Amino acid sequence: MSITPLMPVYPRCDVRPVRGEGCYLIGERGERYLDFASGIAVNLLGHGHPKLVKAIADQAATLMHTSNLYGMPLGEKFAQRLVDTTFADTVFFTNSGAEAVECAIKTARRYHYANGQAHRHKIISFDNAFHGRTLGTISATSQPKMRDGFEPLLPGFTVVPFNDLEAATAAVDDNTAGFLVETVQGEGGVTPATQEFLSGLRKLCDDHGLLLILDEVQCGYARTGTFFAHEQYGLTPDIMAVAKGIGAGFPLGACLATEEAAKGMVFGTHGSTYGGNPLAMAVGLTVLDEVLGEGFLDHVKSIGARLRSALEQLIPNHDMFEDVRGLGLMLGVKMKSDYDARAFVAHLRDNHGLLTVSAGQNVVRILPPLVIEESHVAECVERLSAGARSFAEAAA
Ligand SMILES: *Cc1c(COP(=O)(O)O)cnc(C)c1O
Repeated sequence: MSITPLMPVYPRCDVRPVRGEGCYLIGERGERYLDFASGIAVNLLGHGHPKLVKAIADQAATLMHTSNLYGMPLGEKFAQRLVDTTFADTVFFTNSGAEAVECAIKTARRYHYANGQAHRHKIISFDNAFHGRTLGTISATSQPKMRDGFEPLLPGFTVVPFNDLEAATAAVDDNTAGFLVETVQGEGGVTPATQEFLSGLRKLCDDHGLLLILDEVQCGYARTGTFFAHEQYGLTPDIMAVAKGIGAGFPLGACLATEEAAKGMVFGTHGSTYGGNPLAMAVGLTVLDEVLGEGFLDHVKSIGARLRSALEQLIPNHDMFEDVRGLGLMLGVKMKSDYDARAFVAHLRDNHGLLTVSAGQNVVRILPPLVIEESHVAECVERLSAGARSFAEAAA
């Protein structure tokens, strides 16, 4: 037999972490990495955060899982806190981002069904989007690497260029349910929606009775310096998918919606065995306390600005970098076309002990834990700078 016990769908690298300490990962041979990938924007409190570890241990010893057949005191408390701090009136808890997006799509279709307009089922999504790997969520992307061989996919999706309001407007027809869009595209290359684009989608929704579904699985939960990224655009969605940072490393996601948008989601229409279990809810409450605690968001804003300007200062000193993009601590360094971002990410990892993630459009994603300090910024920039020098020498 030549297939590996782990289904070989990931080209895994040689980093084999066995332990984490704050902003560092430690490999099997004891080697240390500065973790500016955070499990792809997940570990926002770093590794081994004492309050999170204690919350998990305490709740595991008290009650881990029951069933959604029963009342959920911790789930009610966490949902209430999300309702109090966002646009939403109601929350469905999931175990992952793709499930949160699935719930968002179902909620949108069901809204029009409840209005007696079941034909309005089509979702308009955008090029370079990433919404997860279920059959429903890959139906909302145009990327062949995710779709090939899995067809026929779910009907009822139209994909148009991102940040192109004209194309989005032209795609609306009598069967449209709404738009599904990342406020800041992550996998696609750390590209924020433009103000004009997102405001335009909001207006199209208001004018035509459509639903605006934001996917803030990656850009939400304090990553960009506000609790959710759309706050920086001065608008709110009708439905929003959240995951990654919300559990800070524990599998947890959520679909948030207004009362109006959720009007079709009545008894029996949706469910999950694990979704909203007491252990996940204890984690969620603990992470939320940290994120909304005194000074946390201000810290993300100020340290994000520091990191960004330090990255920008690299550009004139190294020929390979084109620009710095993103918001808060969701940053991307775009490389010139002569250089390959994936190869550079591997080089930084293997030779300079720095973990980053590549993204579309030849971008190196910088996604540190949100609790980084000045010293981590300095260390990152030192390693990046040394890495850029040795990478250029090797290429020469
Ligand atoms: C990661 C991600 C998802 C999918 O989340 P999973 O937990 O892997 O299912 C969906 N949307 C966006 C924007 C993401 O970054």
